[in-house]
Amino acid sequence: MSHETVYAIASGKGGVGKTTTTVNLGTALAEAGERVAIVDTDLGMANLAGFVSLTPDSTTLHDVLAGDASIDDATYRLADNIVAVPSGTNLDEYAETSPEGLRDAVEELRSQFDYVFLDVGAGISHETVLPLGLADAVILVSTPEPAAVHDTKKTIELTDRSGGSVAGLVLTRTHPDGDISHDDIADRLEVPLLGTIPEDPAARDSVYAGTPLVVFEPEGPAAIAYRRLATTVTGVEVPVPADGDGDDETDTESTATVAGAASDDDGREAAHDDVSSAITEAESDP
Ligand code: ADP
Ligand code: MG
Repeated sequence: MSHETVYAIASGKGGVGKTTTTVNLGTALAEAGERVAIVDTDLGMANLAGFVSLTPDSTTLHDVLAGDASIDDATYRLADNIVAVPSGTNLDEYAETSPEGLRDAVEELRSQFDYVFLDVGAGISHETVLPLGLADAVILVSTPEPAAVHDTKKTIELTDRSGGSVAGLVLTRTHPDGDISHDDIADRLEVPLLGTIPEDPAARDSVYAGTPLVVFEPEGPAAIAYRRLATTVTGVEVPVPADGDGDDETDTESTATVAGAASDDDGREAAHDDVSSAITEAESDP
């Protein structure tokens, strides 16, 4: 269906589910056999780092944009067919980055992967606008909350101004009894509704497990919705994982492997804690 390769996952408001969408769209397509790269272009607030075991001197997109490393050096394998390019958690490095280098990095990834998803920071800073224009298409993410929908208009406007094009809207954290029609929200924004992702407690649990939702709880409502979204966006048929038969929760554990982390629960939590403390350190760094 679609020949687009590079997608920016963007929102006006923060905390609406961009990183969750990036990780799960990417993982669903990887499970379908597509080669996928997900890139944290939210340079100031590294999010994808939680899915990769980084040590303080690991190479990240910061090093690439500072001209100190190649994109390959900042690429980490997450699972079969999928790699992540995390942003650094070090604010000194962040200060030295030049977002312009992102164009070359994205073109390099485009030549190596079937799909590239750019997890874009919320807001209207330069580093936010740049990926909107670099991507072949922009996927807007919003919750149904009026404030989030309102801020989506800004992202549409920024996309237009940066010469990008909007693929459509994904509404996240939806409730079955919500009083606003999802179609109406998309109509009001004058963009196609690509899909809706229901509120699902597994979304948060999967972050703590350091495992994508579509692997962590493949039969859950949000995971099912993300696989459907992947098909809508790309035309690729995404199968339900073979061992995700839903009647044995421990089944999902065997498919959940995060690079560098042990596959048992303790190992994953340890890896996650390392990254969390790195992020906390970066945030408290003056
Ligand atoms: P963003 O990248 O836009 O800031 P995140 O993807 O980090 O947003 O999501 C923000 C919070 O919302 C996280 O705690 C995440 O686990 C939670 N979340 C995202 N999607 C869902 C969902 N479908 N159901 C419940 N919680 C969700
Ligand atoms: Mg995020």
